[in-house]
Amino acid sequence: MHNDLIIKPAIEVKNLEKVYLAKDKKKIQKTALRGINLTINQGEIFGLLGPNGAGKSTFINILAGLVIKSKGEVNINGFNLDTNVREARQSIGVVPQELTLDPFFSPEDSLELQAGMYGVRKKNRKTKEILSALKLNDVAKGYARRMSGGMKRRLMVGKAMVHSPPILVLDEPTAGVDVELRRHLWEMVQELNKKGTTILLTTHYIEEAEKLCDRIGILNEGDLVACDTKDKLLGLIDKKELIVKFQDQFTSLPKSLNELNPIILDNKTIKFIYQPSSSNFQSILDKINSCKLNIIDLEINETDLEEVFLSITQKNKPINL
Ligand code: ADP
Ligand code: MG
Repeated sequence: MHNDLIIKPAIEVKNLEKVYLAKDKKKIQKTALRGINLTINQGEIFGLLGPNGAGKSTFINILAGLVIKSKGEVNINGFNLDTNVREARQSIGVVPQELTLDPFFSPEDSLELQAGMYGVRKKNRKTKEILSALKLNDVAKGYARRMSGGMKRRLMVGKAMVHSPPILVLDEPTAGVDVELRRHLWEMVQELNKKGTTILLTTHYIEEAEKLCDRIGILNEGDLVACDTKDKLLGLIDKKELIVKFQDQFTSLPKSLNELNPIILDNKTIKFIYQPSSSNFQSILDKINSCKLNIIDLEINETDLEEVFLSITQKNKPINL
């Protein structure tokens, strides 16, 4: 009895490694994941962010059973992917990055077929609900090959939902889709999450992760280089910018400002870069005020996730001067 009360993580990955071998199976072609440890909790929207080639799809495809891991342990909803394959598969719905649809099936047939593959009984199928939630009613009986890219993407999402999995995984769901569909997909993801579905999505759009996700992991060249809440990630960069616009042009900078390392943007505007953790904002303002120049505008720029992402993913790269 007691065991039922323990909440299992939605996804738990330990020391996950993937090495792609060359065709002859002898040489290593690519090490795509280098010992990933990651826990995704029930009810989260978790974003796996990373540049192209980071290993995001490899990670997702291992969960989906499309790629065989080289080492490590994967548990989905408490079911081990090696020893409880069937239960693990039933717990997850995966929307792969590549569009893989049979061009001669209608959306309705695709969903029915997929439900059959998951052993969903006819009376429990939700084909109609899924078609309407994804706004595919009008094309329900047409050929998939006649559908637009956006419709195909939606149908892929629908196929991942036929067995009502508690965990939905989307690999770059909005890559190459138009703004309207992107919004629609975001709303859908949030709606499903509100009803209790755990969401894992990968993206290389920082805005997407910023908007949707509770926690974000950053994958870079097969390593999970950061994993935290959005706010904590933003806190990794101890830097803010203060931009001050003065009323009158200045010919030369007041000497007292030199110690603030001013950057002159134009002859009325100066930028100061400071570290919030170690500088006292009031004393910066006091110094500026003591110059007796009339300030007409102030602007503070916070770090954004893009900056964090770049600083983390480019740290180990040589800098081209
Ligand atoms: P992402 O989805 O983050 O762009 P991938 O997981 O697709 O990254 O790829 C990670 C790395 O593994 C890349 O260098 C890619 O070229 C390589 N890779 C992916 N699939 C294969 C494969 N089937 N055989 C060999 N190398 C692969
Ligand atoms: Mg990918």
